[in-house]
Amino acid sequence: MVDRERSAARIELDIETLAGPGYTLSDEAIRRYAYTPVYRATLDYFTAALRELGFEVSEDPVGTLVARNRPAGEPVFGVGSHCDSNRNGGKYDGTMGVVTALEVCRLNEELGYSLPLQLVSFLEEEGSGFGQMLLGSRIMLQRVTEEELRDSFRAVDDGRSFWEHAAEAGYEPERWRESAHVLDDLSGWIEMHIEQARVLQDTGNRIGVVTAIAGYVHADITAAGRADHAGATPMDFRRDPGVVAAECILELERLARAAGKGTVATVGEIAFEPGLINVVPARARFSLDIRGVDEDAFRGVARDIAAFASQAAERRGMTAVFEQRQTLAATPLDGRTVSALEAAAIETGEPFMLMPSGAAHDTMCVAERVPSAMVFVPCKDGISHSPLEAASPADAALAAEIILNAIRSLQ
Ligand SMILES: [Zn+2]
Repeated sequence: MVDRERSAARIELDIETLAGPGYTLSDEAIRRYAYTPVYRATLDYFTAALRELGFEVSEDPVGTLVARNRPAGEPVFGVGSHCDSNRNGGKYDGTMGVVTALEVCRLNEELGYSLPLQLVSFLEEEGSGFGQMLLGSRIMLQRVTEEELRDSFRAVDDGRSFWEHAAEAGYEPERWRESAHVLDDLSGWIEMHIEQARVLQDTGNRIGVVTAIAGYVHADITAAGRADHAGATPMDFRRDPGVVAAECILELERLARAAGKGTVATVGEIAFEPGLINVVPARARFSLDIRGVDEDAFRGVARDIAAFASQAAERRGMTAVFEQRQTLAATPLDGRTVSALEAAAIETGEPFMLMPSGAAHDTMCVAERVPSAMVFVPCKDGISHSPLEAASPADAALAAEIILNAIRSLQ
């Protein structure tokens, strides 16, 4: 039997310690990223705790932490997350996932389960150091190029390259391809993370078993009209692209709702040129963030809004152009692992739900090679990437128990 209260107390102690002096660059927030002394101290904290449990701890050629209780070559089950933070972050995003994984390792030891485990704490998930999200896991999956690591990925703080910083911190960036071996022996992978939305809180669930991670389309639509005097130009004489933008925003909401299946769409940036109170704009540009776990559904919204924009502009004698910035496919998680987590959650008698993840996680990369799943715990009011972030150690303890029992059932 898992003593959940004791687990919660240990998790709380880890979280509070890692939120204290020596582990963050800021007094007002958690600010921790690769190759800083506070990041080094955080890795050292986990290393000491895992060595105490008899784990062999190492770091891959760029600094992802890997700890295992079996020799290399033997199959192990992976648990972990990331312990870097947003630049103005909280105590829980990422770190609580690694702490919970550590608690899984502790419980495994205490309860004498002898499960073969490997804990991973990924480098630079948040992109705070080099502006590159999921960097450690992308390096592991060889989803970067040597040119990017040597040259184009530059530190936010001083503009020097990732390569230079990694070498200076004592790593061997020239061996970055060997990072792939971290996943070689994994028979499965489970990451715990705070939800970063308010669904669990508002539905009264303590656990979310994640079934898929959303993919996305990031794009811009630019409508071009004609700049005119806002007072002297009668309504019938205008070509106002601002009105096209307004129509598109409403249509995007309608399309996302109609697509269903968890599809979401947002216009987060809008800019008018010249952007003056007394001038009808010449151009209106707005961004699109369209996400979902169903590829056809969210990509359909992107296609339909592009077509709508061009028709809406044409009706008013203007043009509108859709330009994609970036896209990533949705990641379905492993059915067998999800079922094992679901069964373990039912066993606890605590309220839980199956849900998609709208946010990106390192598990998107891991899932390409290893049967993977994720567990969410609620965070207060859905707040993340903020010092106001809050989550409950008791929920994390419950997650640790569920993950542990799911791994047992998968052996
Ligand atoms: Zn995170």
